[in-house]
Amino acid sequence: MSKIDYKAIGLKVGLEIHQQIESSHKLFCNCPPDLIEEEHVVLVRRLRPTRSEVGDVDPAALFEWRRGRYYEYESPLNTSCLVEADEEPPHPLNREALVVALAVARSLGSYIPDEIYVMRKIVIDGSNTSGFQRTALVAIGGAIEVNGKIIPIETICLEEDAARKIGEEGLKVKYRLDRLGIPLIELATAPVIESPEEAREVALAIGRLLRLTGRVKRGLGTIRQDLNISIAGGAKTEIKGVQRLELIPKVVHYEVLRQLRLIELRRELLKRDLSKDSITYNPVDLTSKLARSSSKILRRAVESGGVILGIKIPKMKGLLGFELMPGRRFGTELADYARFWAGVSGIIHSDELPGYGITGEEVNVVYETLNADPSIDAFIIVADIREKALKALSTIVDRIRVAFDGVPEETRAANEDGTTRYMRPRPGAARMYPETDIPPVKVTDELISEADKIKPEPLNVKLERLISKYGLSRELALEVLMDIRLDLIESLIEKYHERVQPSIIASIFVVTLRGLRGKGLDIEIITDKHLEEIVSYIAEGLIAKEASELILEEIAKNPQLTVREAIEKLGLRAVSEAEAEAVIDEIIREYIEEVKKRGLKATSLIIGKAMGKLRGKIDGRRVAEIAREKIEKIIGEHKT
Ligand SMILES: [Zn+2]
Repeated sequence: MSKIDYKAIGLKVGLEIHQQIESSHKLFCNCPPDLIEEEHVVLVRRLRPTRSEVGDVDPAALFEWRRGRYYEYESPLNTSCLVEADEEPPHPLNREALVVALAVARSLGSYIPDEIYVMRKIVIDGSNTSGFQRTALVAIGGAIEVNGKIIPIETICLEEDAARKIGEEGLKVKYRLDRLGIPLIELATAPVIESPEEAREVALAIGRLLRLTGRVKRGLGTIRQDLNISIAGGAKTEIKGVQRLELIPKVVHYEVLRQLRLIELRRELLKRDLSKDSITYNPVDLTSKLARSSSKILRRAVESGGVILGIKIPKMKGLLGFELMPGRRFGTELADYARFWAGVSGIIHSDELPGYGITGEEVNVVYETLNADPSIDAFIIVADIREKALKALSTIVDRIRVAFDGVPEETRAANEDGTTRYMRPRPGAARMYPETDIPPVKVTDELISEADKIKPEPLNVKLERLISKYGLSRELALEVLMDIRLDLIESLIEKYHERVQPSIIASIFVVTLRGLRGKGLDIEIITDKHLEEIVSYIAEGLIAKEASELILEEIAKNPQLTVREAIEKLGLRAVSEAEAEAVIDEIIREYIEEVKKRGLKATSLIIGKAMGKLRGKIDGRRVAEIAREKIEKIIGEHKT
């Protein structure tokens, strides 16, 4: 990552963490809160945009509806009911889930109101059959300390997870209802985070706290982070759905880069003496000029009844190709807008031409037809049915005009590589109203005392126990406390401490796993189950503790492997002491002259050779002991 002084540019990041709660049923019905692959029936819905209390209609929702978009929901036959289908009113709020949210609120010192109300939050993407997501504010305020800094918590909510999107075909979007209604705890921090790495650390600290309740789900997809990111002179951008901790610093860094570049783009536009008024919506039909182009994109569009439209973008040559993030240019942003608002598959701009089968000669024809100057002007082409192409071009004109203001406020989605793409405009604030089907819940003393039973104990209590009861060094114990899998480490130590030294268990996490992360391996795909199996295999003497690194490395590379499969693949079955002795005897025989000549000084040579064959199959210290004993014996015999 290039050097950026994040403080100097006024970076402010706030996190919104969504964690699925482990519960016996969903938030508003009795269905199991799990992703289940089973037979399903299909429901089809269209969402109608409704007016909010203050009378405005979400423009994006209205647009989706006008466009004729509809939604298909796969409803599992046995594990989904009429509540998910929005054919039956929701049941009262899931009490188990509420207790978890209250426990988290109590441990963060948040303020809990006397009564909890369920609200409806409008959603426009079809991810809920009802057209809104139900959410309940459980607490406000409180704080978590991360690396000595107090991170204020703004809100703690309990909400239903959305339906799972499984595909999109033309105007149809497909969802599965298994995820809809899984209880989520949503926790929002104040925007006080000042660097990409700090964002990761805060997310880790909150994730660790949530796990310590012992009542949240594990694994990829069970926790999702949204980030609010802004810099001085930029705008607040909301980035949705970051599932991996490792991605957070990248997402923040790239967003900072994007905002800095958009500010630079604005400067460049002004330097070229341009203003919003210079960018006009003036589409020209290029179909007759380009219909015979060798470009497949253009030909296909025309063959299926479409047109090729273009607009001139004066004095912006080079700026459509202006890079905002690695691999993403200003033109990419324009294409995302056109896709979202007009449903076109893409756009072509002059900074990437000749290309896509469009020749230099055709580029000249376009310049000429648009009455544009190839040395300073740019242009954009869209090939689609006329209505969509026109909408795409007007959207693009609007977006380019916004570039004169710098950074627009928008909601973006994270890509796999940490870059982001435009998702939709940022929703206004007036999009919540009360859920009248669900009675408010009184926060009784009984609820609070249930919450206190699972409230995570303070970290210093854990620290003392790890040191005094389990004999960890203070240094190692502190490392354990910082680990996202603290809850798992604790439970494994508790379960296996009589058969595996607690420090060995701790080291698998804070030394081995972090070492693999340092090597650039993805340790987040290693599951808690993998880790528990490794410890149990060590406990049973099936593998040596040294084997854990090789096994975990193998699993990080091939996460579909079970621990047993990884062991087999690596040939890491533990060897018995007798087998190890045989190997060492053979090596000594091979190097007997060396041993006779150098005596004990040859020990390290023998150990090195032996470890080459025995690494991960038996404790390395044992190999050293056996080798030394044998060499001492030989030297003794040699002398007499
Ligand atoms: Zn249900």
